[in-house]
Amino acid sequence: MPNLPDINKQTLAGALATGTHGTGKNYTALHGAVTAMRLVMPDGKVRECSRDTDAELFHAARVGLGAFGVLSQVSLQNQPLARVRKVVRLIDTDEMLASWPARAGHHRNAEFLVLPFTGKSALITHDVTFDPVSPRGPDQDADTLMSLKRLRDLFEFTPGLRKTLASRLLADVPPEIAIDEGWKLLSNERPVRFKEMEYHLPIERQVEVLREVIRRIESSATDVFFPIEARIIAPDDAWLSPFYQRASGSIAVHAWYKDEHDWMFRLIEPVFREAGGRPHWGKLHSLGAKELALLYPMWAEAQAVRRSVDPQGRMLNPFLEKLFGHDRL
Ligand SMILES: Cc1cc2nc3c(=O)[nH]c(=O)nc-3n(C[C@H](O)[C@H](O)[C@H](O)COP(=O)(O)OP(=O)(O)OC[C@H]3O[C@@H](n4cnc5c(N)ncnc54)[C@H](O)[C@@H]3O)c2cc1C
Repeated sequence: MPNLPDINKQTLAGALATGTHGTGKNYTALHGAVTAMRLVMPDGKVRECSRDTDAELFHAARVGLGAFGVLSQVSLQNQPLARVRKVVRLIDTDEMLASWPARAGHHRNAEFLVLPFTGKSALITHDVTFDPVSPRGPDQDADTLMSLKRLRDLFEFTPGLRKTLASRLLADVPPEIAIDEGWKLLSNERPVRFKEMEYHLPIERQVEVLREVIRRIESSATDVFFPIEARIIAPDDAWLSPFYQRASGSIAVHAWYKDEHDWMFRLIEPVFREAGGRPHWGKLHSLGAKELALLYPMWAEAQAVRRSVDPQGRMLNPFLEKLFGHDRL
């Protein structure tokens, strides 16, 4: 596959249905590679669709949230294997933010994780190489996260000390380098459970919004210790794609699964919304049909296809009813 998300444990259908993406200025989300689909429709009939056959269904159901039928077969335009060099290194967050547009344009895949309350960010890049394989070592991310959690547990009340100790903890971390086939390096293990809100913004707003998100977390959500993640995604033309006709910069905030996450809705979502962000379909957000219709130029067309294939709302559950508007017949 041309690109991969942060984990590779999902089903392909689940990933496509929610607009799952990786990062890279020239790479669309996974559904950008779909060339044809076979769907078992709500009435039990089977339909095949592509750009040339049943094109409206193809455009509406490529990012379909499970509402257009059950995907039973999919064709993807994949690519030959690419060997990549993965580099993870820590950079001062101020420098990271200032240099991000240039860095993002420079690498095949680039993303960064702002480590709040530390002044540091982890830049992760992947670039094609023909150098010999040098496999990745054991995953350090979970240990780093738990160290950041311990700092939070002990020093949340004193941000200055928390930051000083964090800079010591992170001072001597050497860059992590691995060379291998892309599919072995682009996705990761994520053993620590978390909750997440991710919005996809017009790319030119990403850095400015990120600065405000960091400011709000560091001043009003001091229990956060999980990183804030920034990625870039190329535009595509699926009607319900959060990247529909828009080069996007995504920002994701996370909370440990046992911690409160109401701050995401209170402090962060309004900033994402003000910037015209579209929420990740598979993560936390508070939007309903009225707000979503304003964010998606082809919303009405997609709804018309959905109603025509599922007039009785058989594919809807309460969550989808809120997203699409409650219009069961
Ligand atoms: C640790 C972790 C890391 C993640 N990293 C990323 C990331 O890097 N980038 C990103 O964009 N997302 C990421 N996600 C989100 C994840 O990709 C989505 O939530 C994805 O939908 C999960 O796939 P699933 O197979 O679990 O699907 P489910 O959660 O089971 O289903 C998701 C949706 O797909 C529909 N669906 C499932 N199967 C079918 C089918 N056969 N036909 C039609 N509809 C179907 C369901 O109805 C539902 O609406 C991550 C999630 C986790 C937990």
